[in-house]
Amino acid sequence: MIESLTPEQVAIIDKMHIWHPYSSLTNPIPAYQVVSASGVHLKLSDGTSLVDGTSSWWSAIHGYNHPVLNKALVNQMNKVSHVMFGGITHEPAAQLCKKLVDITPIGLDKVFLSDSGSVSVEVALKMALQYWSSQGRHEKSRFLSFKKGYHGDTLGAMSVCDPVNGMHSLFSDVLAKQIFAESPPCNFDDTWEDFFISDVRSKLQKNNKTIAAVIIEPVMQAAGGLNFYSPHYLTELRQLCDDFDVLLIADEIATGFGRTGRLFACEWAEISPDILCVGKALTGGYMTLAATLCGSKVSDSICAGGSGVFMHGPTYMGNPLACSVANASIDLLLSSDWQSSVSNINAQLIEQLSELSGCTGVKDVRCLGAVGVVEMLNKIDVGKIQKEFISEGIWIRPFDTRIYVMPPYNISSEELTRLTSGITRVVRRFF
Ligand code: PMP
Repeated sequence: MIESLTPEQVAIIDKMHIWHPYSSLTNPIPAYQVVSASGVHLKLSDGTSLVDGTSSWWSAIHGYNHPVLNKALVNQMNKVSHVMFGGITHEPAAQLCKKLVDITPIGLDKVFLSDSGSVSVEVALKMALQYWSSQGRHEKSRFLSFKKGYHGDTLGAMSVCDPVNGMHSLFSDVLAKQIFAESPPCNFDDTWEDFFISDVRSKLQKNNKTIAAVIIEPVMQAAGGLNFYSPHYLTELRQLCDDFDVLLIADEIATGFGRTGRLFACEWAEISPDILCVGKALTGGYMTLAATLCGSKVSDSICAGGSGVFMHGPTYMGNPLACSVANASIDLLLSSDWQSSVSNINAQLIEQLSELSGCTGVKDVRCLGAVGVVEMLNKIDVGKIQKEFISEGIWIRPFDTRIYVMPPYNISSEELTRLTSGITRVVRRFF
């Protein structure tokens, strides 16, 4: 039997042995211990209950400990928890892949399952490279990406992240050299002006012969700054990719499953990418799972190439537990009135966060779908401000200059007020 640890023992082990995301082991910021979670509440080891404003990095769209998702996992566990995917298939994967084909933008009908968002991006990049190399176009081996973009922390994914805040300088000797266009220079609601797309157009004009694909986060650049831009930008970009014979990869890992107010953010522009990445909310935040989808144009070319196969195959590919909970999460989402939930969250965020516009230290307040952002003028000391948020009974995890909320969709209006009023008080007294 595994002996349980006291909270103090957990804290000591954590401090001595455990890396947290982007953390130092010589100068660690103490991590808060979560002992249970239910609905939109996280319970800490000292009994504190926090309203979660992050959906655990935007994944837990139905909140925590959801009976439907719990049941899906237990049912599947009693059948088979994991089995290799090489030469074997199973119902949970078949259900999931069919669902993804049905709900994602038209033309994407081949699905590659993987373990995390970053890996699904690696898969997308490799698909694009194999697509061109199969046709003997080996020179098409670079990617055009965007400043302020974020696509993951593995080496290939990192190479297409923003070259300044994406840690390129630390890894510059090994990262593939990609081409970066300016971040879309328009807001979500801006009236379209042709110059918005001129930088990417000229970069494609100049380099299209060596570019395999353009990779972009549709409508919202997420971890690179929470910037919202005009859907028309995507319409123009789709056209440019076609004109210049370059594939379009849409990274919907952050935006997928309703977060921006459309099931997939590509729907704002009614475009279909050639390759699509989804992850995060795919399993409702229960298990790590991602998928890369493409159409037969891409898959036919890859399979007609010298190797005849797509060269990737993770051990935990198609994990049945993860697929089952993803199926339950998607069904739960689609059977709910999620559009109203997201639009109510949006209206409340606009109303309650906009009072921070013009406050000391605040640069901008903006909202899209179930995302609310308070951008500060200066970089935020996360360790310090986190304590303030905890004292307000809320879990908010800012990055760089951004304080943001992306709550579970089933948050009540009182719980959401707790988040926005907590943020408002902390911003007023902290800055
Ligand atoms: N792409 C986007 C748009 C993301 O927001 C993220 C995660 N923040 C990733 C890729 C990487 O996903 P993961 O952390 O699951 O590897």
